[in-house]
Amino acid sequence: MSELQQQRAAALHTLTLACDEQFGDGGRFTRVFAPGRVNLLGDHTDYNEGLVLPVTLGRGVYQAGRPATNRRIRLHSVNFGESLVFDLEDLPTPQAGSWASYVIGVVREFMALISLDRGFDLAIHGDLPAGAGLSSSAALTVSTALILEELTGQRLPRQELVRLCQRVEQRYAGVNCGIMDQFVCALGQAGHSLFLDCRTLAYRHIPLQFTDYRLVVIHSGVSRGLYGSRYNERRAECDSGVQQLRRHFPHVKSLRDVDMKMLQSREAGLEDPVARRCSHVVMENLRVRDAVAALLTADYPTLGQLMTASHASLRDLYAVSCPELDTLVDVCLATEGVLGARMTGAGFGGCAVAVVENAGLDSLSERVKTQYQARTGCEPAIFPLQGNYACGVL
Ligand code: ADP
Ligand code: MG
Repeated sequence: MSELQQQRAAALHTLTLACDEQFGDGGRFTRVFAPGRVNLLGDHTDYNEGLVLPVTLGRGVYQAGRPATNRRIRLHSVNFGESLVFDLEDLPTPQAGSWASYVIGVVREFMALISLDRGFDLAIHGDLPAGAGLSSSAALTVSTALILEELTGQRLPRQELVRLCQRVEQRYAGVNCGIMDQFVCALGQAGHSLFLDCRTLAYRHIPLQFTDYRLVVIHSGVSRGLYGSRYNERRAECDSGVQQLRRHFPHVKSLRDVDMKMLQSREAGLEDPVARRCSHVVMENLRVRDAVAALLTADYPTLGQLMTASHASLRDLYAVSCPELDTLVDVCLATEGVLGARMTGAGFGGCAVAVVENAGLDSLSERVKTQYQARTGCEPAIFPLQGNYACGVL
C-alpha cells in the first residue's frame, strides 16, 4: 500500500470506529470524501475575475452517513469530539464558523432545493490541518453536500453544488470567499491540477507528472491573524484601481480587462499602493497561463521559477506575506533540488508550496524543521504531496 493509501485507510478506520461508537446498529453507512487544496499559482486573482491553478490534496474530509427511520438528525465530529442531535423541522443556528454551522448550513441550503423526508446519522472526520489555508472548510461543505445527495438519491449539477457550498461559507461562516476553493474541491481530478477562469468558470484539468518532482506543502505554523481586515483592504484597493482605470479605458470592468501597458500609461496615473496591487494581479494572471504551458510540457523548472516570482510579487507588490513566510520560502529556495517556492492562499500566515526534485525531498524536510524553526521560533508541518484525490463516494 502506498503512503497515500495507508493514510486513507487509517482515516476510514477512524471514521468506522466512530460510527460504531456513536450510532451503533441501524443499517449500513455510505461514505464520501472531499479533498483540501493548495493553489500552485494565482493568488488574489480569483476576486479580480482572474486565473487560478489549484490542485486537490490527498487529504481532506471523510463522512459516513445513513438515513434514519425518523426525522432526527444526529451529527458527530471526530476531530472536535462533539455530537449534536436535533430535529429536521428545528435546525439550530450554531455560532458562525463552528464546524456544525457549515454542516447545518449545507443541510439548510440543500433543503431549499430538495426536500428531505427523513433524518440521518452523520459522522465526520478530517485529516487536514483546519484553518491552515488548505480549505478544510470547502472539503467539509462539499462532502456534506455529497452525502446529502447519496441519502436522497438526488444529484445537483456539480456547478450548482459548488455555488451552494460557496453560499454556505458566505452566509453561515461569514467569509466573503471567491469560488476557487469549492470549485476545485468538487471538480478537481486525481493526478491533475485545475486551471480555472474565475470570470467565465471555464476550466481545464492539467495533468501533473510527478515522477521526478514533488509538490510539498509546508504550514508555517503562523495562523492567519490579520487575514480578514487586510483581505478586505486589498479588495478595496483593486476596486479603486478599476474605478480609476475606467475613466481612461471605459471597457474595464475588472482587473481582468487590464494589461501592463495600460497600467504603465501616463494617463492612467495610478498611485501607490494601488498601482502595485494592480500590477501584481495583472502579472499573476500571466504567470498562471505560463505555468499551465509549463505543466503541459512537464517543464517543472519553469513552473518553479514562476512560483518564486509569484512569491516576490505577493511580498513586494501585493504585501500579503509575513516575515515567517518569507523566511520559509528563503529556506526552501536555499535547499538543493528545490525548483521554486511561494506562499499560497490569502497570506499573513498559513502555508507555502514548493516544487522539489525527489532526491531533494528529505533534505528539504530536514532544513525546514531545523533552520526555519531556529530562525522564526515557529513549528512547521510538512506535507509532501504523494498524490491527490477527487471528491466522491467511496
Ligand atoms: P481552511 O478552510 O483554510 O482550513 P477555515 O477557517 O476556512 O480554514 O475553515 C476551518 C473550519 O472548518 C474549522 O474551524 C471547522 O469549523 C471547519 N472544519 C474543517 N475541517 C473540519 C473537520 N474535519 N471536522 C469538523 N469541522 C471542520
Ligand atoms: Mg476555508
